[in-house]
Amino acid sequence: MSITLEHINYTYSEGTAYEKKALKDINLEIPHGQFVGIIGHTGSGKSTLIQHFNGLIKATSGVLKYNGENIYGEQYDLRKLRSQVGLVFQYPEHQLFETDVITDVCFGPKNQGLSPEECKERAREALKLVGFPEELYEVSPFDLSGGQKRRVAIAGVLAMHPQVLVLDEPTAGLDPKGRDEILDQIALLHEKKDMTVILVSHSMEDIAKYVERIIVMNRGEKMYDGTPREVFAHYKELEAVGLAAPQVTYIMNALRENGILVSSEATTVEEA
Ligand code: ADP
Repeated sequence: MSITLEHINYTYSEGTAYEKKALKDINLEIPHGQFVGIIGHTGSGKSTLIQHFNGLIKATSGVLKYNGENIYGEQYDLRKLRSQVGLVFQYPEHQLFETDVITDVCFGPKNQGLSPEECKERAREALKLVGFPEELYEVSPFDLSGGQKRRVAIAGVLAMHPQVLVLDEPTAGLDPKGRDEILDQIALLHEKKDMTVILVSHSMEDIAKYVERIIVMNRGEKMYDGTPREVFAHYKELEAVGLAAPQVTYIMNALRENGILVSSEATTVEEA
């Protein structure tokens, strides 16, 4: 499976006084299995972009292909696409509503028409994948910690067996420990499952350490797109738009730890 965007534009409230061009001529190809980070300030178009991936928002112009097939075609099954591209929204715990964890995670598979036994099986598998403790399966989701609630919400999407998992700011509102735990878990998930993972964040710090490709959004445009090393080669430009400044040392260290940069190269970049 792959996602291809060709000249995607999106304008909110077109033709009104509130018109807002949120995406401008976006061209992208995301191959199967990649771990991608999308970074940019609030309002840069990240959420608008990812809602195109599963057809929740239809482009004002341009073409989006899933597995080479135009999703805007008349015959295209958008319902199926929505189960293949699982989207975990910001603060997903606001959408937990069942009486216990396992029933909540079963919600998606149940809607897919699976039997109660199959649903439970899917839910257990998904909860395991996000490292959720078994002794809490029967607990009310409302009694969980912030990080645990988020795991349950992610499991709810995983239980539908998506080919692509898109997470919009999965660390928003968590403390540093909870943040690291969730990101580590997502990285582990990507390792274990044959799945594309797309992680959206406004924090370079969150993204840099984990992903293999970074897409930088700025004012509705794709500013950079490449491996962390390629993107950070532009760190002066990133700094100029406020996307790298306080974290440069961190990023360099992360790159060094990952063997992406060797020390001498890093020194050159820092001194440049
Ligand atoms: P991000 O996810 O990077 O914060 P968004 O995709 O939410 O960015 O927003 C991109 C731009 O579109 C912003 O200028 C935002 O104000 C505008 N926007 C987002 N949602 C709407 C909406 N429902 N109606 C009008 N404008 C919107």
